[in-house]
Amino acid sequence: MNSGRIYLDNAATTPLRLEVIDAMREVAADADYNPSSLHAEGRRAAGLLDSARDRAASVLGVHRSEITFTSGGTESDNLAVAGTMRASAKGSRVVCSAAEHHAVLVTVERLADEGYQPIVLPVGSDGHVDVDAFSRELEPGTGLASVMYANNETGVVTPIAALATAARGRGVAFHTDAVQAPRWLALDVRSLGVDMLSLSAHKFGGPKGVGLLYARRGSALHPVLSGGGQEFGRRPGTENLAGIAGMVTALELAAAERAEATARVGQLRDRLESGICSTVPDVRVNGGEADRLPNICNASFAGVDSAALLMALDLAGVAVSAGSACTSGSPEPSHVLAAMGLEPRWRQGAIRFSLGPTTDTLEIGRVLEILPAVVADLRRPSAAGTRSETGRRDG
Ligand code: PLP
Repeated sequence: MNSGRIYLDNAATTPLRLEVIDAMREVAADADYNPSSLHAEGRRAAGLLDSARDRAASVLGVHRSEITFTSGGTESDNLAVAGTMRASAKGSRVVCSAAEHHAVLVTVERLADEGYQPIVLPVGSDGHVDVDAFSRELEPGTGLASVMYANNETGVVTPIAALATAARGRGVAFHTDAVQAPRWLALDVRSLGVDMLSLSAHKFGGPKGVGLLYARRGSALHPVLSGGGQEFGRRPGTENLAGIAGMVTALELAAAERAEATARVGQLRDRLESGICSTVPDVRVNGGEADRLPNICNASFAGVDSAALLMALDLAGVAVSAGSACTSGSPEPSHVLAAMGLEPRWRQGAIRFSLGPTTDTLEIGRVLEILPAVVADLRRPSAAGTRSETGRRDG
């Protein structure tokens, strides 16, 4: 980062790319009309919306009518999960993993209030759901199964095609939250075999507040919002045209750069990880034994409070995250690490480093210079008082 700071929180959000700003500016400057209006301005906006939909469909290898633009990952997940279940018979089962993002997990759990049956599958210590256990849960009367492509806290990548095949074999619709994937994993929807897939622009260089849901033609999906008939009747509300143009530009760039970025960033992440493990005692890499995104390192430092470590690193110029991104200004205990069976002492000291395509060797070197002393400092007995005080303030 040119500010001298080192941004290692790309799983929380990514900076807008310059190409994206240009694409958004172009639309905002002279074409930002309502695509549903019948006049020339509206028709022009509708043309731009159509072209953005075609471009998104082409990156994903799907038909344009299968793309619904939304306000982001949360809404895409809600639409896939609640929208599918509300089109299913009352009492139907809805299956997800215990490591899902809350946008899926909480939506699944709340469907119990509407008379559906949530089934939350455990994950192993590697963060994976067991494919056989997953298949067994897809009993007749299951409306939907949802398992994320890549976990936002640990980076653990799910063998999605195997789960999608199991679901298809049992006639169960399968959704995947692919919000963390676009920069690093292939997004060829047909080879993944999923029925629905969620994306969020701000995780791959696009703007916040815009996303999309791919839903296979013929998917039974009730809108979760009430209003007009936009987005093929699946998502009411005037489309965020500039945001959509920015997202599609970012998606194309992510796809074009994926192979190079994955190889380069993966090496940097491995260097960070081996550096941490060789210079800091009592540390573990969470999900380290599983196939993971190349940009995430979730490490636990025994005897250290993650909020205190986050703040100490922030003071030293390094932006990271503790557990999952916090919604209220203080990190919440990680349900993902708990689901993986981590003991509290490891959960309490978990930090997520998430690299981006512009992260460089110097930045990783600098983090490795800073980290051992910062951790040692927080482990000194005299730091314990500060740690518990911090805990009280956050609580
Ligand atoms: N799903 C995953 C895996 C995420 O990482 C996030 C964001 O943290 C979301 C869903 C929610 O996306 P958004 O911030 O666009 O609502």
